[in-house]
Amino acid sequence: MRQGDTLYIDGEWTAADRGGTFPVTDPANGTEIGRAADAGRAETERAIAAAQAAFPGWSGRTAYERAAVLDTAHRLMTEQCEELAQLMTREQGKSLKAARNEVKYAADFLSWFAEEAKRVYGATLPSNRAGHRFFVLRQPLGVVSAITPWNYPVSMITRKVAPAIAAGCTMVLKPAEQTPLCAVAVFEILAEAGLPAGVANLVTTGRPAEVGEPLVTSPAVRKLTFTGSTQVGKLLAGQAAGDMKRLSMELGGHAPFVVFDDADPVHAAKGAALVKFLNTGQACICPNRIYVHRSIMDPFAAALVDRVKRLKIGRGDGGCDIGPLVDEAALAKVQRQVADATAKGARLLVGGERVLDEGLAQGQFFAPTVLADVDSTMTIYREETFGPVAALIPFDDEAEAIELANDTEYGLASYVYTKDLARALRFAEALQFGIVGVNDINPTAAAAPFGGVGVSGLGREGGAQGIDEYLDVKLVGISI
Ligand code: ADP
Repeated sequence: MRQGDTLYIDGEWTAADRGGTFPVTDPANGTEIGRAADAGRAETERAIAAAQAAFPGWSGRTAYERAAVLDTAHRLMTEQCEELAQLMTREQGKSLKAARNEVKYAADFLSWFAEEAKRVYGATLPSNRAGHRFFVLRQPLGVVSAITPWNYPVSMITRKVAPAIAAGCTMVLKPAEQTPLCAVAVFEILAEAGLPAGVANLVTTGRPAEVGEPLVTSPAVRKLTFTGSTQVGKLLAGQAAGDMKRLSMELGGHAPFVVFDDADPVHAAKGAALVKFLNTGQACICPNRIYVHRSIMDPFAAALVDRVKRLKIGRGDGGCDIGPLVDEAALAKVQRQVADATAKGARLLVGGERVLDEGLAQGQFFAPTVLADVDSTMTIYREETFGPVAALIPFDDEAEAIELANDTEYGLASYVYTKDLARALRFAEALQFGIVGVNDINPTAAAAPFGGVGVSGLGREGGAQGIDEYLDVKLVGISI
């Protein structure tokens, strides 16, 4: 494993200018598992310059040549799935099974956008004038800055890198300071796949704001693609507005999960448990508000609690379901939300506290928790949890359910369980969210557009729409 030379700039692995590094720790026990280069402004500016210099060459390659690099990267990532998954479990804490699934999902973006590269079609339009023609071209927009989070440390990188380089853009990527080693592993694959120098550059840092500033404000950068918190997203969008950069923003969520009285409460509880405790609750599509029809609340809650009691808490490499939270701040937030809810009358059905069992006290483990009788006065009703706490809220009819589900400024994922087809369609159309799962807890795939409305973000990643984010539309009018 690289030790400190984790910057990939203009096709070379290098250390930070003054040799500075920062520690990378295993969130399950706090031990140091490696060190990453602590880049600052100067290294970032060099990376941007390298991307700028590489742009004419890379955008001038054929789509078939760009696709070939992505296809090779897909093959390499698939071959290295097990090593990548083990690294991810150590660095991020998720179970090995979940890490393997993430690597497969990450690799899917490489192959999907290898194909999409060849489908960047333009158009000819009928003109309103004789002797005149219109053409529409779609062209790569230039140098892209990408900033990625720690919760999906491999797939959130390929979801940006693959469409950017498929489109013919060049880029600089800054991974989260908690998970730089996964980013290094992805860039080693891109290098091995034959990506030319300067096309994709990696800048690891423990000082996100210092590196973020040139990434977001440099005039050479034409687009920012960001995945992270709504708070930081708003800050960066403001900075990027200075010279009207294009933006893609994948931000926080506050997903409603609505269970109607015609649904099977046990089946719905299984779905709720799987998606609520996905990645220990640390995913932006995790339900934050679980609305259950009052008439089936008891069997639903009993089935959910039963499942939660069977979840195994521990290290991701030990076959566990619930891993550590990423850091102390994450643990403190969950503890604060649970204390606030119970003080205001929520009933704790299971969990509710930090786990300090033998071998786990050095990590930030929180027991999977179910709270009943949650209401709108509680912090958890408004604030994203990003932890393993399921909040149950009763409702009485469909009109009330849609009003409650939409009662948030966020708009990423949403879920509804019902056997009534007409109700499912009415509800899917009325939900003000970018993603709706109908009796479905996994409405995501490389081939599907992912993204939110409201303060959950701008733009879509994946799907046919994913590559549009990296293309400008040019109109050519020709008099003949
Ligand atoms: P979280 O709270 O989930 O860690 P953040 O929004 O803080 O989410 O982090 C997501 C990404 O944004 C990470 O790569 C982080 O380093 C980066 N980041 C945080 N603050 C800034 C900033 N001021 N400028 C640039 N990047 C930032």
